[in-house]
Amino acid sequence: MSRFFSSKYAQLTPYVPGEQPQDQQYIKLNTNESPFPPSPKAIAKASEAAKRLQLYSDPDARVLIRKLAEKFDVAPENIIAGNGSDEILNFAFLAFCDKETPAIFPDVTYGFYPVFSQAGQIPYVEMPLREDFTIDVKDYTKAGGTIFIANPNAHTGVALSRADLEGIVRSNPDNVVVIDEAYVDFGAESCVELTKKYDNVIVVQTMSKSRSLAGARLGYGIACRDLICDMNTLRNSTNPYNINAMTMAAAVGVLEDEDYTQDNCEAVIKTREYTVGELRKLGFELTNSVGNFIFMKHPQVDGEYIYETLKARGVLVRHFTKARICQYNRVTIGSRQQMEIFIEKLKEIVNR
Ligand code: PMP
Repeated sequence: MSRFFSSKYAQLTPYVPGEQPQDQQYIKLNTNESPFPPSPKAIAKASEAAKRLQLYSDPDARVLIRKLAEKFDVAPENIIAGNGSDEILNFAFLAFCDKETPAIFPDVTYGFYPVFSQAGQIPYVEMPLREDFTIDVKDYTKAGGTIFIANPNAHTGVALSRADLEGIVRSNPDNVVVIDEAYVDFGAESCVELTKKYDNVIVVQTMSKSRSLAGARLGYGIACRDLICDMNTLRNSTNPYNINAMTMAAAVGVLEDEDYTQDNCEAVIKTREYTVGELRKLGFELTNSVGNFIFMKHPQVDGEYIYETLKARGVLVRHFTKARICQYNRVTIGSRQQMEIFIEKLKEIVNR
C-alpha cells in the first residue's frame, strides 16, 4: 500500500478470481466457463467490428439493447448493459445501498457481494443458509435492506422457484431485490417476468456462461425504467463507453444464434447428470445443482486434499477456504470427455 492510498480503503480485501493459469494445459473446471467456443455468428460480428475500432463504441449500446428488449419482450428503457454482470451488480450495490439500507445476501454465495459492499462503504448482512444450503424464504421477509440473491446460488447451484422469489419481492415493497441469474439457463426458472410486474426487482444476467462469452465481458440488467435510469446515472458518471464495440457485436451475434445456445445448455445439463451419477457411485455428497457446475464433498476424503491432488494431476477445480464450505469443491461441467477424465482422476484419489 502506498502512503497515498485513501484510508477509506485500508480494510478492503479484493475479490480473488479463480485461477487462470498460463503455464500448463489444465482441464480447467474452476471458473464456470463454457466448454464450447462462442457462436460462429458472434465471432464473425466481432471480427467485422474490429475494423472500426478507431471509433468509440455506442455509449447507449442501442443495437444490443434493442435485441435484448426483443428477446425478453420489454422496452429498451428496461435494460442496462454492462462490462460483465459484475459491473451491473456493482452499480446496483452503489445505487441502492447505503448506511441506512444495508445489502443482504446469503452467507454462502457469490464471493464478490461482500467485496462490492466493502468497496462501496456499504454495511452488509450475511444471512445463514439452512444446513442443507437452501434459502429459508422467511429470512428475507420484510428484510429491511437491499436483497441480493443469486438464483441458482453461486457455489451450491441450489435454486429457489419463481414463486418463492416473487414472495420475497412482494414482502419488500420498499426495498430493491436483485436476482442474479448468471446460471439460470442451466435449469432454474427465470424471474424476468417479475420485472414487468414489480418496481422493486432487478434481474441480472450474463453472456459469460451459457453464451460462451466470458472473455468478451457482457452482462445486463432488466428492471422498471426508474431502476435502470438510476444505474445508468452511475454508469454515465464512471464510464459511458463501458462496453467495447467488439463485445457489443459478439453479443448481438450470439443473440441471433439462440439454437446454438440452447443446444450447448442441453449438452451441459446432460453432462451434469452423467457427472452427478458417477460422483454418487464414488460416495460423494452433492447439492442439487441446476447450474453449469456441481458442489461436492466426500465423507472420508478432505476437500483441500482433493483440490490439490486433482491440480497435481492436471485438473483444476475451485476450492474455498471459508469454514462452512472448506470440505467442498465446486466443479464446472466441462465437455463429456473432460468430465470422464475428471472422474478417472477422482477414482484414483478416493480409492487410493
Ligand atoms: N454472478 C455470479 C453468481 C457469478 O458466479 C458470476 C461469475 N463469477 C458473476 C455474477 C459475474 O459474471 P460476469 O461478470 O462474467 O458476467
